[in-house]
Amino acid sequence: MKKKVLFIILPVILILLIGVVVFLNLNSFQVKNFKDTLEIPYNTTFHADTGTVCFGNKFKCHEVKVTKTGEIDTSKIGTYEIKYTYTYKNKSLTKNQIIKVIDNINPIITLPDQEFIGCPNKQDLKFEATAYDEYDGDLTANIIETINDNKVTFKVSDSSGNTAEITKDITYLDNASPIITLNGERTLYVNLNGKYQEQGATAEDNCDGNITNKIVTSGTVNTSTPGEYQITYEVTDSAGNKTSLVRKIFVYAKNNYNAPSGKSIYLTFDDGPGPYTGKLLDVLKKYEVPATFFVTNQSLTKNYDNMILRAYNEGHTIGLHTNTHNYNIYQNSDTYFADLYAIQAKVQRITGYTSMIIRFPGGSSNTISMNYDHGTKIMSELTKAVEAKGFRYFDWNISSGDAGETTSTAQVVKNITSNLGNGSTYMVLQHDIKGFSVNAVEEVIKYALAKGYTFRAITMETPTVHHRINN
Ligand code: ZN
Repeated sequence: MKKKVLFIILPVILILLIGVVVFLNLNSFQVKNFKDTLEIPYNTTFHADTGTVCFGNKFKCHEVKVTKTGEIDTSKIGTYEIKYTYTYKNKSLTKNQIIKVIDNINPIITLPDQEFIGCPNKQDLKFEATAYDEYDGDLTANIIETINDNKVTFKVSDSSGNTAEITKDITYLDNASPIITLNGERTLYVNLNGKYQEQGATAEDNCDGNITNKIVTSGTVNTSTPGEYQITYEVTDSAGNKTSLVRKIFVYAKNNYNAPSGKSIYLTFDDGPGPYTGKLLDVLKKYEVPATFFVTNQSLTKNYDNMILRAYNEGHTIGLHTNTHNYNIYQNSDTYFADLYAIQAKVQRITGYTSMIIRFPGGSSNTISMNYDHGTKIMSELTKAVEAKGFRYFDWNISSGDAGETTSTAQVVKNITSNLGNGSTYMVLQHDIKGFSVNAVEEVIKYALAKGYTFRAITMETPTVHHRINN
């Protein structure tokens, strides 16, 4: 009987023991919501996602200690690994997690704030756009431009495959005129019976490109007759925009001052002689143009006294300007005449010629003399006094501007030639101590000869050119 009971109880105890052991062994790491892979946008903060892990069973579960190894650089796109170690007492569990730092921001395409205009011939269509990506930076070079009729589409992808696309209308229009460029000078001077060589021109158009072969040239140059001629170059682009350009050609003969001409020019040069007078005399000789030199005896001109003799010998008129060019000569008539006679004597010593042709320093209209004359209106007095003594004085009616605001040869040419009209007497004021002014003389001469003017030197018979007295 006792043995029989044991046979029943022992297996029950054994079963219970096994049950306890099994129950105890059921305790393990319980893992919920752990993600093997995570994606986070770049430049955001990474928060460790450990899931829910505990140690135990479904009836009772103990909190575990978590340690983490591995680094993530969220500023760089890439795949990173974090290792979590969960520990409970002497038991531990390790889990790996893959973190993908990604770029999910689209690039941005920017278009200029203006209409897209294309050439009607649709040649070389190309429009401007820029692209920028937060992660990759400037992506302008990666833009793909597609043109479809009157729309242009720009597309761009960043290094992570994020894309942007923008479409804009195209207006087909050409209202820009072609540009003609002349070969050679725009103003040419040709000697009488010389040769005019047509040098042609080139034409460029914004839409049609080089359209030189469409230039139509008209006009002729008759080099056997002095005068002004024009060659006109005209070109039209495929959209009908027209451009024309004119070249002026002046055919001139050497000056003939015995010719009965109604239009005379008197070139006059004050304040010299000086370092440029020799060059000026060379030019005058080349065109057989006589001029008038109103000379001085300032320290800077003394070294060029030989130029007075050369000018005289070459047929120019030597006029008297002043010995000192100091305005204190205007104190009274004695001081004025003392100065005038000094320069007259000097010219006489050099040339043997007694000049009676004068120009007042500052001209007869000057107001600077009022600083010296103590209110005596010296210019009113002197203009009468010189004539009473047999002198003739000359002012000017064309100023080259070379004593003041003008400092370029081209401007001197313009100041003179633009004032030449159909009058009979043009008296031009220049200063042969100014190199840039002397350099203008050749072009003035060629221009005026072609226009039918005759150059003359002042004589005692030359028509009067007087300013209004201003004192
Ligand atoms: Zn002067």
